[in-house]
Amino acid sequence: MKYIGAHVSAAGGVENTIARAEAIGANAFALFTKNQRQWQAAPLTPKSIDAFKRGMERAGFLPEQVLPHDSYLINLGHPEPEGLAKSRDAFLDEMRRCEQLGLCYLNFHPGSHLGKLPEAVSLKLVSESINWTLEQTQGVTAVIENTAGQGTNLGWSFEQLAAIIDGVEDKSRVGICFDTCHAFAAGYDLRTLAGCEQVFGDFERLVGFSYLKGMHINGAKCTFGSRVDRHHSLREGNLGEAVFHYVMNDARFDRIPLILETIDENIWGEEIAWLRSLAA
Ligand SMILES: [Zn+2]
Ligand SMILES: [Zn+2]
Repeated sequence: MKYIGAHVSAAGGVENTIARAEAIGANAFALFTKNQRQWQAAPLTPKSIDAFKRGMERAGFLPEQVLPHDSYLINLGHPEPEGLAKSRDAFLDEMRRCEQLGLCYLNFHPGSHLGKLPEAVSLKLVSESINWTLEQTQGVTAVIENTAGQGTNLGWSFEQLAAIIDGVEDKSRVGICFDTCHAFAAGYDLRTLAGCEQVFGDFERLVGFSYLKGMHINGAKCTFGSRVDRHHSLREGNLGEAVFHYVMNDARFDRIPLILETIDENIWGEEIAWLRSLAA
């Protein structure tokens, strides 16, 4: 069973995401539980939480079909104490919002050293940030997203992802979200089935499929190995279609949210239907 959906808008309240997912034929979705470009957000209201839970029930969505994404401002590997503390507080708040909604994942970008710390030190800070947050919460898994490696962003290589996981104490509550566009930009060649075999073989060896909790299914406007983060629609751009055939026909990608973050939301319904059609 494949869970396929898109990162839908939470405008008007988180409870509105469910109908938006259903409208495009999705059986998975991603959302922001607060404005992703602001530090502060009003708490979720009991009314909104209740409506979200009832909507999940009505639509028949399980928590494992939903992959919330945190704010872009958060940097869990921040080199300065003040920035790190602010990021940790915001991340904890996001985790608690997921808890309140009865969800089980929180997807985030690991962080950036901003040129002020050695990579290994910043990676260690990310692990410690995750530990600090997990100690204060229950039931929500911290899902680290691989990045394109733009600027000083960490988490673009499988080795870096493995290093972060290595530093997490509760391995049962840490996972990975694999973004196809980011991997391609970071130099993982997914343009052929043989390439996919190689890349996901490396992923299994260095990180492990047991940690794979979700995927972002994106085409790439950026070029191979460019370390630039530019998504495209699935059937356009430089990534090609092989990886989508590969994912749709491999049981290792069953029962995890496969989320579109493609650039034209008007064709999300078509893209979801097309992905489904690829399964032999
Ligand atoms: Zn992301
Ligand atoms: Zn992504």
